[in-house]
Amino acid sequence: MKSFGFAATDANEPLVPYTFERRAPRANDVVMEILYSGVCHSDLHMARNDWTWTVYPLVPGHEIVGRVIETGSAVTRYRIGDHVAVGCMVDSCQSCDQCRRGEEQLCREGNTGTYNAPDRITGDITRGGYSKHLVVREEFACRVPDGLDISRVAPLLCAGITTYSPLRTWNVGPGSRVGVIGLGGLGHMAVKLASAMGAVVTVLSRTSDKADDARALGADRLLISTDEQAMADAQSSFDLIIDTVPVKHDLDLYTPLLDVDGTLVIVGQVGPMNPFNSVPLLLGRRRVAGSPIGGIRETQEMLDFCARKNALPDVEMIRMDEINEAFERMERADVRYRFVIDMASLKAAG
Ligand SMILES: [Zn+2]
Ligand SMILES: [Zn+2]
Repeated sequence: MKSFGFAATDANEPLVPYTFERRAPRANDVVMEILYSGVCHSDLHMARNDWTWTVYPLVPGHEIVGRVIETGSAVTRYRIGDHVAVGCMVDSCQSCDQCRRGEEQLCREGNTGTYNAPDRITGDITRGGYSKHLVVREEFACRVPDGLDISRVAPLLCAGITTYSPLRTWNVGPGSRVGVIGLGGLGHMAVKLASAMGAVVTVLSRTSDKADDARALGADRLLISTDEQAMADAQSSFDLIIDTVPVKHDLDLYTPLLDVDGTLVIVGQVGPMNPFNSVPLLLGRRRVAGSPIGGIRETQEMLDFCARKNALPDVEMIRMDEINEAFERMERADVRYRFVIDMASLKAAG
């Protein structure tokens, strides 16, 4: 089927309107009309080939909310008109131990990314949510719970699940002491979700500039990482620190803040980190870990949790043709806290 969207054609060029073919729906596929598409830092990295594996033309977008407009003959979960959401993956082997546990993000064969990945059947490169339609197997679509403001749901599909999953993995609940480093798309969701789970939430920031924002998002306090006395006083006081900083950085400042058996989990930076000192890890049996998105079952659980708690991202709505400006602003961290593209603004080219 014909579809259209915006694509990067080269690492140095702005995104431009682009017409392309979506696969004809298979028996277990749903066809979605995309209503909203979140703008993730990964989209920018991928458009610019920062990770060196971009295939052009690239249609980014893996925070996708839409409406089912067609269903394959074997589809049982969804009907035409249902609101559904798709995140960072659209397929996996479905048979390995991880897939069987509902941890498709950890599939032994590797999951299939929503964009820039070969389709498991045809080998065609997948294309993401900066487009009018998406064809996806029904197992990789989640249901958008009734009552959620659908215009704000999209960022939950990457920023939301990426922070929700480690909070669940490390059993955050009432009274847990959670730190959040970085207050961008991921960080602001980490604060909202942890606080909705009843945790005592601290935002770690280099300056006091974000104190009001942090409190407005639900944090209990701000810890200024350049304040040596405050940092010394905060030693051994966290159960979990979620590190959302999306660039190479130091960890030595933060690991001593963990209590015994505490964990610092990296969810932002994909790539090298500065060398870090093992002493705080050994002496406190502390851990540094990483965590990628979450499984489909957990993503649905997260959406249902957000609906119950009305925990939704703060978004700035843009038109599709404002995407290049949005990328530039995102690079300057000039967004509170996530851009969402209103896909009604996307018109067929020509
Ligand atoms: Zn993302
Ligand atoms: Zn698998």
